[in-house]
Amino acid sequence: MQDIPITAHAYSSLSSPYPQDEWIDRVSDLGISIPLSAIAAAPTDRRTFLKAATLPCLAACAAVCLRSKPAHGLAALSATEDDAQFRVEARFYEKLPGKTVRCHLCPRGCVVASGERGHCRIRENRGGTYYSLVHSRVCAAHVDPIEKKPFFHFHPGIVAFSLATVGCNVTCKFCQNWEISQAKPEELPARYMPPADVASLAKQNQCPAVAFTYSEPTVWNEFVTDAADAARDQGLKAVVVSNGFIQQEPLKRLCRHVDAIKIDMKAFSAKYYREVVDGELQTILDALVTTRKEAKWMEIVHLVVPTLNDGDAEFHDLAKWIKANLGNDVPIHFTRFHPMFLLKNLPPTPVETLERAKAIADAAGLQYVYVGNVPGHPAENTYCPQCHKLLIERAGFTVTQNHIRKGKCEYCQHLIPGIWS
Ligand code: SF4
Repeated sequence: MQDIPITAHAYSSLSSPYPQDEWIDRVSDLGISIPLSAIAAAPTDRRTFLKAATLPCLAACAAVCLRSKPAHGLAALSATEDDAQFRVEARFYEKLPGKTVRCHLCPRGCVVASGERGHCRIRENRGGTYYSLVHSRVCAAHVDPIEKKPFFHFHPGIVAFSLATVGCNVTCKFCQNWEISQAKPEELPARYMPPADVASLAKQNQCPAVAFTYSEPTVWNEFVTDAADAARDQGLKAVVVSNGFIQQEPLKRLCRHVDAIKIDMKAFSAKYYREVVDGELQTILDALVTTRKEAKWMEIVHLVVPTLNDGDAEFHDLAKWIKANLGNDVPIHFTRFHPMFLLKNLPPTPVETLERAKAIADAAGLQYVYVGNVPGHPAENTYCPQCHKLLIERAGFTVTQNHIRKGKCEYCQHLIPGIWS
């Protein structure tokens, strides 16, 4: 196993424009370019896919790591190292007869025999005890603007120490971080970063927040809550960027440990969730309702994929459901798709489609509807729903104006929902 770098962009919330070619929540500077031709046309089974992807992936990672310097004195990990330092007993599972276990972390509910792993690849049954293999195992660490997650109503302009491990509990055909989400722990370089180090590295990098992002935080739930606790003990904020595919009990617990959660609402269609995500719509809707009730703050992202989830009726139904079940003041981001992973055949989302989605959601009564992945678009700004003046102006991920004072519009004193510095 090889060491990985921690990278930070020169960034100032009011003066230095953040690179405009960054996408929302795409891992920065991964430095991996895997030929997709062998796997893009027809999804293969996971074993075949990983066989095709692993060797070039490892070679590319090695190239990156060779030109990177170990950061902050953390030791590199050897390829043969025992995984004991990353292994903790899972928190949400039950033991079944015959040394089998059933995982209760996400709705997939994997039943796993001894010696096997769950669907997410990072949980393993060893002799009847179920383990996470990725506690403190960080495969990506970057300093990102909070707007990149995206959070638009949560301390605008701050930067977040953004961490990921490998693995995911779904397989979105459009995944923009698939190089890490579809891998096993032993297939990618990593860094041992226990919770106390997360907090101190965030502070060293002048990040007032820690973000668990890029891949799915649910699958390393034990580490996320432990590291969030360590960060918050040091006066930092902790945020999670999730697909919402998590069971109710771990979700409620997660809400108590973090300051904000962004959840993907990838479509308002059970068929789309089944065929494009390999997930389930109803569990996401349940997670959104619970998170809205239990979390300190929540925002929603809807990635609009041409021809697959971009119909007027679906936008209308989605907006109507959000208003009825979550309220009209939860921020929603309609973000632009870029051809990736198994959907290289589709074009990027036309900006007009995102504008149409926003118009429908506005007309349905939602108050904070944003367009994402279109740097400089006026719908990336926040406007007061009462006096309609510009409150927060953004240029890509950079905040260039902020007229919110003590949580209110500076001009008409209307209360703007969110958590403000
Ligand atoms: S978290 Fe992983 S092991 Fe557990 S049910 Fe979900 S996919 Fe299966």
